[in-house]
Amino acid sequence: MKIAVCVKQVPEGNSRIDPETKRLDRSGEGALNAFDANAVEEALRLKDATGEGEVVLVSMGPPKAQDALRKALAMGADRAVLVTDEAAAGSDLVATSYTLAKALEREGADVILFGQQAGDSDGAVLWAAVADRLRLPVVSQAAEITQADGKLTVKRQTEFGYDVIEAPLPAVVAVSDAINEPRYPSLKGIMGAKSKAQATLSLSDLGVEGDRAGEQGSRTEVYGLNDPPARSESKKIEDNGNAAQAILDFLAEKRLV
Ligand SMILES: Cc1cc2nc3c(=O)[nH]c(=O)nc-3n(C[C@H](O)[C@H](O)[C@H](O)COP(=O)(O)OP(=O)(O)OC[C@H]3O[C@@H](n4cnc5c(N)ncnc54)[C@H](O)[C@@H]3O)c2cc1C
Repeated sequence: MKIAVCVKQVPEGNSRIDPETKRLDRSGEGALNAFDANAVEEALRLKDATGEGEVVLVSMGPPKAQDALRKALAMGADRAVLVTDEAAAGSDLVATSYTLAKALEREGADVILFGQQAGDSDGAVLWAAVADRLRLPVVSQAAEITQADGKLTVKRQTEFGYDVIEAPLPAVVAVSDAINEPRYPSLKGIMGAKSKAQATLSLSDLGVEGDRAGEQGSRTEVYGLNDPPARSESKKIEDNGNAAQAILDFLAEKRLV
């Protein structure tokens, strides 16, 4: 079974928006998106359960995203594909999902796994957009995945318990961060990752037209960035045993009770 895992490099630490570009500042250190480690772990478990197959990482990002891919290779993935192109900078959800779908089409995987969200943009939606472009079934918040007889059975975490959903292959699944405990790469894994294939593809390699990527292919326009409005008059009530009365007096003074 061939499993593709979409992974993203995200900025380490707090995210900052660059006021010039109105985009997230991604110039500092990057790390493998923590939610994607769950997806990689699940792919490795699915591969082990079937006893054969391949785990391919697929990412779109700047050249330095190779570092994040190397970490996932060290966990045990077999190879990686990075779509990297100056012209892809500024891609919003529409452009990102289009390009990733093109890269995934080339791979023709049986299962496409995602993390539940990216720790920088926190959209938690890219998997749905990619599945729609590929016209494949999608299950999100997967807390357990089993594979048999050409279909996946997914336990989906919900507010009130679990749904059990069957999906024919190929299918897209976004895993919950509760699905597993990602393994730490072993020293052997880290050394071995250096010799695993890490391919890079440009937009033209994928046949992505110039007007479908980057700012040109995006439908989101950021008009401005502002600090949140200053808080209006507020009163802090310390609880010295009479906080309830103090709150009541305050509300009465404002004619709210
Ligand atoms: C105007 C605008 C400009 C932007 N410019 C840039 C930019 O220049 N560079 C940039 O990196 N982002 C940019 N973004 C953010 C980019 O659009 C989002 O990262 C992308 O749409 C995915 O959304 P998300 O990060 O919220 O992912 P989510 O929907 O939260 O992610 C779900 C899962 O998708 C996977 N995933 C997310 N992104 C990728 C990826 N790139 N490759 C592989 N798997 C992925 C991960 O498995 C993740 O766990 C821009 C956004 C806007 C609105």
